[in-house]
Amino acid sequence: MAPLVDTDVSLVADAGRIVAVSDAFLNLIGYSADDVLHRPVDTFFRSALRATSQDVDFQTLERPVSCYVFTASLMAREVTLIVRHLRPTLAEYYVQEVPNSRLEERFFLVNQFFYNANVASLLFAWPGLHVLRANQRYLEYAGQPSDALPSVFGKPLTQRMQRRVREVSGRFEPPAAQLDYASTLQLYGVPALDGGQRYWDEIWTPIWEGGGIRCVLCVFSDATERVRLRIQAQEKDALIHLQREQLQAIVDSMSDGLMLVDRSGEVKLLNQAARSLYYDPDSLHRIGDTFRHTRYFDLEGNRLEPQDTVAACVLQGKAIQHRGMRCERPDRTLYMSESGSPIYDEEGNVSSAIVCSRDVSAQMERNKMALDEQRHLLEIEQLQRESLQRAIEMKDQIFSLITHELKTPLAVIDLAVQSIERAESPHPDSRLAMYLGSIRQSNYRQLRLVNNLLDMARISSGHIRVRRQNVDLVALCRSIVDSVRIFTEKKGISLVFHADSESLAVFTDAEKMERMLLNLLSNAIKFSPDGGPIDVALSCDGCWVSLTVRDQGIGIPLDKQEIIFERFGQVDSSLSRSAEGTGIGLALVRQFAQALEGSVSVVSSLGHGSTFTLRLPALPHQSDADCALGDGDFSQAATIEFADLFN
Ligand code: ADP
Repeated sequence: MAPLVDTDVSLVADAGRIVAVSDAFLNLIGYSADDVLHRPVDTFFRSALRATSQDVDFQTLERPVSCYVFTASLMAREVTLIVRHLRPTLAEYYVQEVPNSRLEERFFLVNQFFYNANVASLLFAWPGLHVLRANQRYLEYAGQPSDALPSVFGKPLTQRMQRRVREVSGRFEPPAAQLDYASTLQLYGVPALDGGQRYWDEIWTPIWEGGGIRCVLCVFSDATERVRLRIQAQEKDALIHLQREQLQAIVDSMSDGLMLVDRSGEVKLLNQAARSLYYDPDSLHRIGDTFRHTRYFDLEGNRLEPQDTVAACVLQGKAIQHRGMRCERPDRTLYMSESGSPIYDEEGNVSSAIVCSRDVSAQMERNKMALDEQRHLLEIEQLQRESLQRAIEMKDQIFSLITHELKTPLAVIDLAVQSIERAESPHPDSRLAMYLGSIRQSNYRQLRLVNNLLDMARISSGHIRVRRQNVDLVALCRSIVDSVRIFTEKKGISLVFHADSESLAVFTDAEKMERMLLNLLSNAIKFSPDGGPIDVALSCDGCWVSLTVRDQGIGIPLDKQEIIFERFGQVDSSLSRSAEGTGIGLALVRQFAQALEGSVSVVSSLGHGSTFTLRLPALPHQSDADCALGDGDFSQAATIEFADLFN
């Protein structure tokens, strides 16, 4: 059959196959006659032209049909199709394009979307929801990336996409004026259709015609990265918010007040505890604001100015620890302890100051009470000490008065004895001489006791006096030892003195040396059995002089070796009791030794004897000092010291 020329008929089909086609129709669909002729008419409409009325049979079609068909270059054409059946097998098809329906011509700019590979673009028919146009990116958006793009043209939208259309279409609004394309619906960062981790910005533009929607243009752009960044930022914001809230909670729950002040002196943070420390904290915006109503003083009572505050000092770069101050607020007075440290910026400049404050009023009150109490106790103690001192002084005065009073009659008795002896010589009555001897003995005993008591009294009142002289200690000790031989001989005791040098020049108190050595000797003789030896040894190592008195007498039990140096300290045993005196002698020896900056000690074993050692500093002779005679007559002193010993 010849081509159809100058006719309204587009196609002629015989027995269902296309046998003729018009140029106008070929022109409309962009195919050649060879592409069309001899093809089954139904298949041709369905497959080649992708007619959107897929539910009709194009061979047996009776009624006119409106649908879209697609050109060879996949352009949608809205057409009306009418079939005229001429004979049972022959039919003429009239395909008429709806005038002014070519969207790519009406909306030229719309084309641009389909050529833009960055956005997914779709044009679909309304209400049939057939794809009229789409680009490759759309397939990705719709979740069908493996499909070939041409295969979706003319096809209904996927189920998912249809669901999306239903969700969105309720929000389509007719255009305000007579325009037919101005109404768009813009959605930002919508989750991907398949619920995956992709987000799309969507622009839905329904194209209106004659009061209804004809088709819809959709443009989707991938917003995943932007949304991801936004979500990240939101999460970060939420985290920062949470951390700030946690920090605020911590800061607020602190019992110490916390204040943050920036470089300009503006208060940036004030926690709950700090708010309670300041009067009218809401008015505290800058350092010094509280000075309007509160007066501040340091602990010495000096008035403080705003520039003296810890915050102000810290902003000058100083760190401050526990500065106490008194705050006289309009409502109450409190004591605060403040510490502060600077915060530095990257250049090392002070950027802000942190100030910690604590209410120490209760502690100050306690301290004040304790101080008052202490002061009160001190006053009482002072009074007691003074009255005790007065009592001691009085006692010492009474004591020395009594002892002096006691010494006078003793001197008178001694004088009387001497006078009688002188009157009786040269032929004294033997009985009278015995009585006189007895009187003198008792007199000396009494004198020794009084002397010792007097010394003790002097010591306890702090009146012990050291009178150092240049002394030859070897000569002095030898003389003293010799002065007691008369007593050792009576007991058959061998008394030996030896020194490690011929003489020993020291600057010491000769009288105290004598008192000490006589006491040690009298004890050694007292507590030695008849015939027992006594050794006196003097040595010097350059710095210290050692004087030892060793006996082989009754010895001293270990537990008494310290007590015997105490006042009235004695060994309470039947052996020693027989020879005991007053228990003052060794106490005096220790006091004298200490007054000479030395010491006395004992090593003793019960039943085997005792060794007493005096250690005294070996001070060298002084050129301008007095010299004591080392070979003096100590017999009088010895007689008094030994008065206990022999009757
Ligand atoms: P007293 O006047 O009683 O002798 P001392 O203070 O001189 O006082 O001595 C205290 C006591 O120490 C003596 O009573 C005696 O018990 C003991 N004592 C001192 N020297 C010796 C010694 N050489 N041997 C044994 N006991 C001693």
